[in-house]
Amino acid sequence: MKILISVDIEGIAGVVDPEQTRPGNPEYERARRLMTGEASAAIRGAFDGGATAVLVNDSHGNFRNLIAEDLDPRAELIQGKPRELAMMAGVDQDCAAVFLVGWHARARAPGTLAHTVNGFAFGRIVVNGAETGEAGLYGAVAAEYNAPVALCTGDDAFVAETAPLFPGAIGVAVKRTLGQRAASCLSPQAAAAAIAAGAKEAAARCGELRLRPVQVPATLRVEATGVALADLFATLPILRRVDALTVEFTSPTMRHAIRVLNSLSAMSSTLR
Ligand SMILES: [Zn+2]
Repeated sequence: MKILISVDIEGIAGVVDPEQTRPGNPEYERARRLMTGEASAAIRGAFDGGATAVLVNDSHGNFRNLIAEDLDPRAELIQGKPRELAMMAGVDQDCAAVFLVGWHARARAPGTLAHTVNGFAFGRIVVNGAETGEAGLYGAVAAEYNAPVALCTGDDAFVAETAPLFPGAIGVAVKRTLGQRAASCLSPQAAAAAIAAGAKEAAARCGELRLRPVQVPATLRVEATGVALADLFATLPILRRVDALTVEFTSPTMRHAIRVLNSLSAMSSTLR
């Protein structure tokens, strides 16, 4: 039984400020160590719960944050970008379940460091009429590969957001959000213990989970954070302009949708 663990940084205990998520400063170096610790806790729990193989996907920013030499050595580690399935790379390798570790709430939700895919470019993303965050988007990609989301860790807003999306999945809140740049956090040791326990239970029970795929073809509305960004997105002929800030496209699969969104995200760097 292979488990894929996708690890982001914004939902790690002790991470509350954007400075901690950007390379090039000592605070980031601390944050990536905390991230590596929570990833190792999830690996430990997965094996304790019956996994026979664990694949870890480094899913933040440049996808090169986890410190390989400090990670539980039983896991294989995916790093580097660009890559087609981005935060869900590896899900095509016959995974029994996916764990989302250190993830965060969607844009405009009251969560610490909440955003959707790219906080600079996207004000919000709406799928088939429903506001959707990264968990909803990538959880739908995983469902297309028959892999249910079995564990969600991050702040309490993230756990609340994911509960209705992934019924039966284990939610572990390692911090209580106090705002976009503030939270009350468990210690790294307590967070690791909670994640290991949750991961063990999630691995043991993942066979009982049912997939909840997003209905396709799906309609995705992307609200840009500025008109110039919407102008840029509208240059792609597969997108329709809805209003000054909003573009829309129809996608045959959620895997296709995430590729379009990540292409828009990459394009947006030309306007930074
Ligand atoms: Zn991130």
